[in-house]
Amino acid sequence: MAPRVLIGQFMHETNTFSSQPTGYGAFARVLLHEGPAMVAVLRGTNSETAGFLAVAEAQGWDVVPSLAAIATPAGPVTADAWERLGLAIARTAAEDGPFDGVLLALHGAMVTELDDDAEGALLEAVRAAVGPDVPIGMTLDLHANVSDRMAALANVICPYRTYPHVDMAEVGERCATLIGDAMAGRTRPRTVIARRALAEGFDQGRTDAGPMLEALARAQAAEAKPGILTTSVCAGFSSSDIAFMGPSVAVSYDAAADGAEATARAVAEDLMDFCWATREHEGNVYLTPDQAASRAKAHETDRGHPLVIADYADNPGGGAYGDATELLRAMLGAGLQNACFGAMVDGEAAAALHAAGEGAAVTLAVGGKVDPRFGGHPLTLSGVVERLTDGKFVCDGPMWRGIAKSFGPTGVLRVDGVRILIVTNGMQITDVQQFRHAGIDPTAMATIGLKSMQHFRAAYQPLANEVLVCDTGALCSPDVRKRPFKKLRRPIWPLDPVA
Ligand SMILES: [Zn+2]
Repeated sequence: MAPRVLIGQFMHETNTFSSQPTGYGAFARVLLHEGPAMVAVLRGTNSETAGFLAVAEAQGWDVVPSLAAIATPAGPVTADAWERLGLAIARTAAEDGPFDGVLLALHGAMVTELDDDAEGALLEAVRAAVGPDVPIGMTLDLHANVSDRMAALANVICPYRTYPHVDMAEVGERCATLIGDAMAGRTRPRTVIARRALAEGFDQGRTDAGPMLEALARAQAAEAKPGILTTSVCAGFSSSDIAFMGPSVAVSYDAAADGAEATARAVAEDLMDFCWATREHEGNVYLTPDQAASRAKAHETDRGHPLVIADYADNPGGGAYGDATELLRAMLGAGLQNACFGAMVDGEAAAALHAAGEGAAVTLAVGGKVDPRFGGHPLTLSGVVERLTDGKFVCDGPMWRGIAKSFGPTGVLRVDGVRILIVTNGMQITDVQQFRHAGIDPTAMATIGLKSMQHFRAAYQPLANEVLVCDTGALCSPDVRKRPFKKLRRPIWPLDPVA
């Protein structure tokens, strides 16, 4: 009989410092498919579920899809959303079994109103349903905060190995292949984990340069050692006030192989020693918004490719509000011509643009409305409504090629030389279609101001002449010492002196 395998995808990167809780509707707005619809929508995409399905179909497994749900990073997931989505996966595990294996695509930095370790809680519920001997494989984001409970309950952990993240389907395939080996009795996988007194490490995990590249090379070389199945290097997610936040290395090994557990522990500890040794490495130079805007003004006469300014701190992909105004204020103040800026997350302003209509001259307050302490007060702007859209676009960049997304009601407000993309649903800039769908061609701009930490590089670095990164003081500031931690274990670097 074909092995029966439960699959589920439930992902959220929770910024515990955000005042905006993440309810069921936040998942419904971004991605939520239950049962067979999950398979129909995600098969063949660059998603972990597609990777699971590719292996399942090649090996002739009987797949039981539970659900796939993803929401934009924000505050803790509500108890209601946890009950209807997380526990729904556990209910499928309990009611539709027995299963030979389980494959879960999780983020690893989800916090709910009920539990600081949501993935650990989900694994516990699924493990209770399927029993101690059914292999469970879990994929994670590279920015997972991996708990001891996750390592104890998942047989195999496979995080992304790219930042910008472009290897989702690949990690799904790796995870499914390892679980396939376990289901066939070829291995008996277990996972160990190592951590240090570090709130940050591996240069936030960026894989275009810096220490993460060497860590990943060492990790993959270690997989040639006897009994080592796969290595997981996670940079952690520092906007999370939980005890076990920070970088970690997990190593999955074959418990049936002599000495493999000791080897796995040594590999994990060695990589965390490397993380400690390289902790000071910072690949970005963070400019103030005014410094970045004046560099852009000087660059305008250079008729080459655009200059890109990334607002690192107001990245909605890290749970920031997306309505920080400091960079836009600086760009307007510098008198930039032929510039675009996006996305400003301000549903009220987007609605006002729609009410005014294309071509209308308007004056309105833009941005800074959620909490002006993080990135500036609202700006009163006068300009012309250049374009109105429903916010829907299909990605064509390296991260999510082929996947449809929506900003919700969207408008372009032209103020002097700056076209401002004003949207309803928060989303970081990762794809040129986010501007193009609204009539803005980023390649024709002298300056592109955008909200993203690192993911923008996948699509925008190739078209940019120069990339600047700035800190607007918004919620995801690169300075972790600005966050008011209460639950984080202490002492920890760089918040405390640590020997
Ligand atoms: Zn990530």
